[in-house]
Amino acid sequence: MQLKTSKRRSETVTETLHLAEALLPEGFARDVKLTVDNGVITSVASGAASVAGTRAFSGIALPGMPNLHSHAFQRGMAGLSERRGAPEDSFWTWREVMYRFLDRLDPEDVQAIAAQAYVEMLEGGFTALAEFHYLHHDRDGRPYANIAAMGQAIAAAAQETGLGLTLLPVLYRFGNFGQAPSVHGQRRFVNDRDAYQRLLEGSATAIRDLPDARLGVAPHSLRAVALDDLGWVSSLRPDDPVHIHIAEQVPEVEASLKIMGKRPVELLMETIPLDRRWCLIHATHLSDAERDGIARSGAVAGLCPITESSLGDGIFDGIRYRDAGGAYGVGSDSNIQIDAGAELRQLEYSQRLRDCRRALFAEENASTGLALWQSACAGGATACGRSVGRIAAGHRADFVTLDSDHPAIVGKAGAEALDSAIFATNALPLRDVVVGGRRVVAEGRHIARDSVRTRFAAVMRRLLAAA
Ligand code: ZN
Repeated sequence: MQLKTSKRRSETVTETLHLAEALLPEGFARDVKLTVDNGVITSVASGAASVAGTRAFSGIALPGMPNLHSHAFQRGMAGLSERRGAPEDSFWTWREVMYRFLDRLDPEDVQAIAAQAYVEMLEGGFTALAEFHYLHHDRDGRPYANIAAMGQAIAAAAQETGLGLTLLPVLYRFGNFGQAPSVHGQRRFVNDRDAYQRLLEGSATAIRDLPDARLGVAPHSLRAVALDDLGWVSSLRPDDPVHIHIAEQVPEVEASLKIMGKRPVELLMETIPLDRRWCLIHATHLSDAERDGIARSGAVAGLCPITESSLGDGIFDGIRYRDAGGAYGVGSDSNIQIDAGAELRQLEYSQRLRDCRRALFAEENASTGLALWQSACAGGATACGRSVGRIAAGHRADFVTLDSDHPAIVGKAGAEALDSAIFATNALPLRDVVVGGRRVVAEGRHIARDSVRTRFAAVMRRLLAAA
């Protein structure tokens, strides 16, 4: 299934949608009428009865959640790294498994795996994605004839599935702090500055036909770029998002202190002024000054609670960061599990386990789920650099509907229903998912689920048989 985007763009399509109940920026409202023009909401009115000729949605509509961090191909290795290897098993042995798996992938494999991940994202409540894309080159480390062939595969998967894409081609130059040479397992990631500029141009071409796609830049981490690359790379697209992995692991902080004499976030903030364009992925290990500095800067903390739990990274200081006014969103990162509600639940639960208290992200006498959903939508939208994350005029018509007949939800409305959807289910109980006004999930199933899964299965059988 390929969307004929060029045709869609040349037509003006105005449509009226009716939502039985919806979470608007000011709160939950009933009988909401949306006017949608070429995928963008142009007006919102509540208290409007459904009339003939409008598309009606039952259940409770929420703004679709932006997924601010993913490495799509890692969906193919989910579950392969749960065996204990070295006595001090951690992120670093996981990274070795990842390097061996990705040694075998071609662009067609990446498209098949990404499409499967994106179907699961849409079925799990994510309607927008920032793909942190670092697998660029052929198996021998040489660029493909089209240096952005892998980015093209990502764009094709987004187009097939209807997910709203922010593509972040990653700049990866070195193997560790202090410009240490990259290692063999990193040969498919590495570009010098000239090659990166060509990659960025190729990536712009790759997303050209996607509706409302955005291109940003991503210095991989302070291990993988030189300090003077930060200003250079962020100036290449001066109005677009800049994402970086930072302070995920204790050994990373220790290496930064030892080699650079500073903690990673401290070093970043001294090297370049942070602002809303920046998304700091993980930012798990922070001093109080680093935490408050990020919060003041307007940068978004890109939290990946399920992956951070899986990898044993540590617990982000979410409550004090929120109290300092910090922006945050969530990402599915390694894609070991994919569900917007599960990410928010894990984020809240990590704080409860540490602090021995409950309902930490909630405001006084208010709902935890509502605070998490609205904050993560806002931070995720900023990180994706797109007008998403709100059911409001001027924003993309991206929303999901909770199934109000689900046992966890039945008889409930508003924030109670949202709390129950996040905290009293295994996965968000969704009925419909609409992206840019187009329904891509109906009755909980993506419209291309079967064909995407069949192709993914063939790729996985071949890859694992060759392992
Ligand atoms: Zn990551």
